[in-house]
Amino acid sequence: MDARTPLEKALWDRIGPPLYYCAECLRSVKVTPVDGAEPIVQRKCEHTGQIIAPRRAICVGKGGASMGTKVRIAAMQAASAITGRTV
Ligand SMILES: [Zn+2]
Repeated sequence: MDARTPLEKALWDRIGPPLYYCAECLRSVKVTPVDGAEPIVQRKCEHTGQIIAPRRAICVGKGGASMGTKVRIAAMQAASAITGRTV
């Protein structure tokens, strides 16, 4: 079910989907990397299903040891992308 807000839909159309989003409702998911541990996942919804990462295939929940690094790199890429688009 698509539970995106009008703003989120506009962002999808203009700059593409968020770095991570819920597979069930398409709302963006914030993933915060944690050194030596699984990332902190902050959803805007109550779903527990898969998180989609359009730029890479990951499965949050039972992550491997290398996942924190991958998420950190992705977060940095997202941060730079946002900075570059700041008006
Ligand atoms: Zn959801």
